[in-house]
Amino acid sequence: QYLARIADQTHLNAFTEVYADEALTRADELDARRVANPDSVGRLHGMVIGVKDVLSHAGHGLRAGSNILNGFTAQFTATAVERLLAEDAIIIGRQNCDEFAMGSSNESSAFGVVCNAADPERVPGGSSGGSAVAVQAGLCLASIGSDTGGSVRQPAAFCGVVGLKPTYGRVSRWGLVAYASSFDCIGPIANNPTDAALLLEVMAGADDFDSTVSTRPVAAYAQAKLPDPTNGGRSMRVAYLVDGVESEGVDPDVRQATQGAIDRLRAAGHVVEPVTLSLLKYLLPTYYILTTAEASSNLSRFDGVRYGYRAQPASDTQTDLVAMYKQSRTEGFGPEVRKRILLGTFALSASYYDAYYTKAQQIRRLIRDETERIFADYDFLLTPTTPTTAFRLGEKSAGAETDPLQMYLADLFTVQANVTGYPAISIPNGTDGVGLPIGIQLMASPFAEENLIAMAESMF
Ligand code: GLN
Repeated sequence: QYLARIADQTHLNAFTEVYADEALTRADELDARRVANPDSVGRLHGMVIGVKDVLSHAGHGLRAGSNILNGFTAQFTATAVERLLAEDAIIIGRQNCDEFAMGSSNESSAFGVVCNAADPERVPGGSSGGSAVAVQAGLCLASIGSDTGGSVRQPAAFCGVVGLKPTYGRVSRWGLVAYASSFDCIGPIANNPTDAALLLEVMAGADDFDSTVSTRPVAAYAQAKLPDPTNGGRSMRVAYLVDGVESEGVDPDVRQATQGAIDRLRAAGHVVEPVTLSLLKYLLPTYYILTTAEASSNLSRFDGVRYGYRAQPASDTQTDLVAMYKQSRTEGFGPEVRKRILLGTFALSASYYDAYYTKAQQIRRLIRDETERIFADYDFLLTPTTPTTAFRLGEKSAGAETDPLQMYLADLFTVQANVTGYPAISIPNGTDGVGLPIGIQLMASPFAEENLIAMAESMF
């Protein structure tokens, strides 16, 4: 069924490769195993999952939406993917994404743009755009994406599905193509919070291959329940960001939908109060200084020697190694990635390090402190996931006349969770005047995924 739908919806460009034969063979194997021993089935038995093209899967291509990985085959399998397979999931293919997960519209992929299934003239969001559209259009049951500044939640919001970014260190990053290592999180995109919770449950937990992963026990997230106030439990305390319902920069339809969610939470008996974030205007600058710095370092490994693409020398006599590096990187990386490598290299250069990198690290700490102060009083922070609904293809993508910062604004509300490492989820919250999905985001304290999922489920 999913393969037929994929074949029917190729114009969406959600998948970069579909493992049709492999998926069918595996489905047969899983069926046979279930018939032979119904008690031995895994928790994801037969669940058809798509994986963003930034996660290694041994023997399969891995491109991170880039030409520089042209011809590259993964040598090992990411821990997250390994755990899905160990619980009997079926991986149906690799999904299109912005190059090296850099983008908010899925327009920077070497495999071309992905279209939003709600309106193919519009972007799906990014960078996990293919993964969100695949769930939206029913091309798989759920997807696995990565979220460095909103890449799971923002496309989930644009496509009307659920996207969950866990606490930093909840899921091993082993086998994830690194963008900004102190921000990167692997997270599920699904039709509902419970499916997302189940996938998180399977992927999360200690891993010898990632020293930043937490050894805290993993709860049964898919069974998470809110305490029942009528039975001795307390009601939840929710803070909402005033800007999300008042700021001129947020679409009126999005503001109204957010206010609607606030009203419903109050009606359900929760305490819902406004808060402000004095450092809001520093979120995006801090995020972009630090992530480009980390990216410039992480992406230095793509040199034309070790992975994928190598530029052909201009002549047989040209054997200059440095020229080969330069040419391979110039040809292999697209414009957004090159821009970020340059920005990050600049921020890390000896004369500017203190002015930019050190300063941004200090502000990161202040943002974390301010966020902690909010969570000393509240269980959740509520915002719209994005200031607007899905914009038109080409509307904000880099061109001489477009302001690149316009695109970055799409992540205004999502980056806080990555700057601080907190978990956050985006769930659908109605549609705008022309029927495009609106998302609402809930953020919770570190490792409070159970509460986060239970609350999301109660609002879903
Ligand atoms: N859109 C943001 C960026 O371009 C976030 C991307 C992400 O989360 N991977 O960096």
